[in-house]
Amino acid sequence: CGVFGVYAPGEDVAKLTYFGLFALQHRGQESAGIASFDVDQVHLHKDMGLVSQVFNEHILQDMPGYLAVGHTRYSTTGSSRVVNAQPAVLETRLGTLALNHNGNLVNTPELREELLRSDVQLVTTTDSEMIAHAIAEEVNSGKGWLEGAISALHRCQGAFSLVIGTPIGIMGIRDPNGIRPLVIGMLPGHTPTAPPRYVLSSETCGLDIIGAEYLRDVEHGELVWITEEGLSSFHWAPQTKRKLCIFEMIYFARPDSVMNEESLYSYRLRLGRQLAIESPADVDLVMGVPDSGIPAAIGFSQESELSYAEGLIKNRYVGRTFIQPTQSMRESGIRMKLNPLKDVLAGKRILIVDDSIVRGTTSRKIVKALRDAGAVEVHMRISSPPVTHPCFYGIDTDSQDQLIGATKSVEEIAEQIGVDSLAYLSWEGMLKATETDTESFCSACFTGDYPIAVPDRVKRSKLM
Ligand code: 5GP
Ligand code: SF4
Ligand code: MG
Repeated sequence: CGVFGVYAPGEDVAKLTYFGLFALQHRGQESAGIASFDVDQVHLHKDMGLVSQVFNEHILQDMPGYLAVGHTRYSTTGSSRVVNAQPAVLETRLGTLALNHNGNLVNTPELREELLRSDVQLVTTTDSEMIAHAIAEEVNSGKGWLEGAISALHRCQGAFSLVIGTPIGIMGIRDPNGIRPLVIGMLPGHTPTAPPRYVLSSETCGLDIIGAEYLRDVEHGELVWITEEGLSSFHWAPQTKRKLCIFEMIYFARPDSVMNEESLYSYRLRLGRQLAIESPADVDLVMGVPDSGIPAAIGFSQESELSYAEGLIKNRYVGRTFIQPTQSMRESGIRMKLNPLKDVLAGKRILIVDDSIVRGTTSRKIVKALRDAGAVEVHMRISSPPVTHPCFYGIDTDSQDQLIGATKSVEEIAEQIGVDSLAYLSWEGMLKATETDTESFCSACFTGDYPIAVPDRVKRSKLM
């Protein structure tokens, strides 16, 4: 999911949030929502669909306020229904709470039982709503926003980057390991008399789009509280090691976002270079699977000095489409998303680079499309190690039995997806390209070494 918030009295906060979410669209295409806080009321609009489908100029005009928060959703828990769309909005003793969550709790069953025991009415099936209820419960028991939020956070285990709107300010929170990203930015043009206007965003691309300057990351185990008095920081959790999701860097986040002080484009280029060093091939052309495989493919081509070409064109407007192709379209193999360039591919030996193989179904289709278009050899290189374990922290990588890397050897996978050769980036190679403190990442989907203990009953749902 993507989370975003802006505290900027005097600005069109709903519109700024709209653009922030628009830049974070890749983090979730299922639903989108914004809550703006005005002097005496909160305006909420959320629905299924892309940000540009859910909002229009007219809707945004009716959402005045001095602060706003928003969300783009991709479901990892809870079904794909509008009640599960965020912000999750609740009334409390101190006014409205609008919560936006990216990540996944691992103690959802316990938290749910705890809340139900105290007679909380849960209307959705999401862990995010439970966090909102836990905060509301603490606030209603007499605590202030800050105290209430911190008490509630101690009841949550798992991955959570949160942006929370309240009538007096916005909060940005990361779990003790900082699994999911969250950054702080500042809008330009503040003067000694006008206080700074802050922005929170899952990724820096959400700051760029509204011209906000990147200040820093919200740290793991940190809560920032942005009000008319400015920004204050609280380390709410005992100091633990940062464990940023390495899959954010490899695949999930946008290549123009900055993490660890460099664009992910540069990082992915380096993964591709390392892959070329480890697993060269004698081919005519290197190409990437659009969009996520392209930076690594360019890195591969630079290192190997093999020419780079585009062999597949992606229709940029295929989101999560609600209209399924007809059966006859499906049977004739019409491709909604990727169309091969026959004149580039015909008669050529192709090396295709992708960031990861999860189930292997997309890869298989792509390989077939390349061969149908005339490629004489198709070799595949993957810019990360085999995904062998499911994620419990908010990336939807299926249960373990669905992960092709968990059940098959590299040779068997090559055969199943129909390539002439297949190689993955080595674990050591990935660490080398990552360069920073490699201990500060979660990489459990490659190792099974989960940094936050996953209770057995949760584990059983996804592990073989
Ligand atoms: P596969 O061949 O496993 O079906 O698909 C691989 C492609 O899925 C890669 O291009 C990769 O970018 C993308 N991918 C990687 N991780 C995920 C994920 O967690 N969910 C989805 N839907 N796609 C992913
Ligand atoms: Fe990221 Fe994998 Fe860890 Fe999930 S298990 S948080 S996808 S590195
Ligand atoms: Mg991809």
